[in-house]
Amino acid sequence: MTSHPHATSRFCMQCGRGLSERVPRGDTMPRLVCDGCGFVHYLNPRPVAGTIPVREDGALLLVRRAIEPRLGFWVFPGGFMDVGETAEEAAARETREEANLEVDDLTLLGVYTRTHAGVVVVVYEARALGDGSAGSETSEIGWYAPDAIPWDELAFDTTHWALEAWLGKRGLERPRG
Ligand SMILES: [Zn+2]
Repeated sequence: MTSHPHATSRFCMQCGRGLSERVPRGDTMPRLVCDGCGFVHYLNPRPVAGTIPVREDGALLLVRRAIEPRLGFWVFPGGFMDVGETAEEAAARETREEANLEVDDLTLLGVYTRTHAGVVVVVYEARALGDGSAGSETSEIGWYAPDAIPWDELAFDTTHWALEAWLGKRGLERPRG
């Protein structure tokens, strides 16, 4: 049996027996290995895609989370990719779902790894085609000028990193203090 923090199951997906954490022959890292059939269960991070939509007046869009984790905090629209869509398509779809907003002209802003959460977050800057409104998983939306970003109410470290990168592209810095 295993208590690996990122394991989605304690049982083998091939034969249903228990899993143990050990280094398979020829490997260098501990893996989840089936005690019965020896099948190796590799744990790979999941990709998340999102956008920072920017309006013609230079304001950027954030959404306030209506779900855990970090309920009530602000984040850019984003979520887990589905099989069959590109990262750009996933980012645009999540923006449509969470902010009722269409975007285009997506350009890569950054790729951020949250090692403990097991996710890789791909963030695009995008052109907003409208003003949007609160969508699923969102209690409200907000358009923020670069000097009005609510730094103390951001949801995740990736939110901080992406917004700092967005400011950096404009030669701006996060306010001190
Ligand atoms: Zn097995």
